[in-house]
Amino acid sequence: MNKTNLGFSTRAIHAGQDADPATGATVVPIYATSTYTQEAPGQHKGYEYSRSGNPTRTALETCLASLEDGERGLAFASGLAATTAVLSILKPGDEIAAAADLYGGTFRLLERVFKPWGLKARYTEDPSPAGFARILTPATKMVWLETPTNPLLQIVDIAGIADLSQRQARGAGKMILAVDNTFASPYLQQPLRLGADLVVHSTTKYLGGHSDVVGGAVVGKAELLQPIAFYQNAAGAVPGPFDAWLTLRGIKTLAVRMERHCANGRRLAEWLAQQPQVQRVYYPGLASHPGHELARKQMRDFGGMISVSLKGGKETALRLLTRTRLFSLAESLGGVESLIGHPATMTHASIPAEIRQARGIDDGLVRLSVGIEDADDLQEDLRQALA
Ligand code: PLP
Repeated sequence: MNKTNLGFSTRAIHAGQDADPATGATVVPIYATSTYTQEAPGQHKGYEYSRSGNPTRTALETCLASLEDGERGLAFASGLAATTAVLSILKPGDEIAAAADLYGGTFRLLERVFKPWGLKARYTEDPSPAGFARILTPATKMVWLETPTNPLLQIVDIAGIADLSQRQARGAGKMILAVDNTFASPYLQQPLRLGADLVVHSTTKYLGGHSDVVGGAVVGKAELLQPIAFYQNAAGAVPGPFDAWLTLRGIKTLAVRMERHCANGRRLAEWLAQQPQVQRVYYPGLASHPGHELARKQMRDFGGMISVSLKGGKETALRLLTRTRLFSLAESLGGVESLIGHPATMTHASIPAEIRQARGIDDGLVRLSVGIEDADDLQEDLRQALA
């Protein structure tokens, strides 16, 4: 069978997951070993030490590469470890251009870790190609974007920005386009196909899908991944075999989970938009969303993340957060269970208040990660909590 032509769901279940060559085990085993016995110095079966490589992690990395249509994948101990590895290919004095609406932890990493090290980040409030073009300088060596963004669910034109980075490459020199694809998952969007150079994931979210493991990934062309693979081994923020196995197990059902996340997300977004307590719903699947047409073009569906701005501001938001019974008040997203959060005091608390407010992350904003429970139950939970 030509395995390169297989569909997404088939690859999620089979890519990198042939029967175990040693035992025939159908499911990739958890290779709980730190080291590997050699026949003679340097004579081994491809593995020497589990920071450098582990067969369970290899299965996950192969599967991730296949799902994103990349040549190579690398797994990390967390999404931020993956982001750190990508940023490590830059040099002091380089610049990175990013959209202002950015995961708070990525912003903190850029400002508190990489800025003192010598990397300058410029941010654009307008994440269109024209907005990015305005903050590029000859020192810009990477564009970093998320789409949909966190938490305002703006849609960023990946192909348009890939064009921009190719134009920059002809003038000022090579510029890498890295896309954090955590919110969409490879089932809904494949940035490498749209011209991105690298895809980054917090696999903690939709890929793992069950809120039981923290992990990260980088996927791209083999040549570009070489220095990142070097960093992965040199710095050592790798997932253990059990974490790799849990993530791989989650990935098997990614397609069916995403379909339900999207169906539930659309239903709740449409319902929320009609509620009197709601000022604004941020969901790219609504025709009123400014990025709706672009999302239709670059995504398969619109995902399960919704942000809602409440008329009553912080007080109403805090009351809603403590009154839902199915939506758990918790950090994170992308699991089978629905979560509710308050970006201003939770996921985005690491962004100074004045910057946060200027970016529209007001205290009345609530973020929902819509799970795969029955939509009727989720709607009823929000109804009683809003009431
Ligand atoms: N990128 C996005 C969009 C996220 O939402 C998160 C975490 O919430 C991360 C990256 C960081 O991932 P991790 O928490 O696995 O380090």
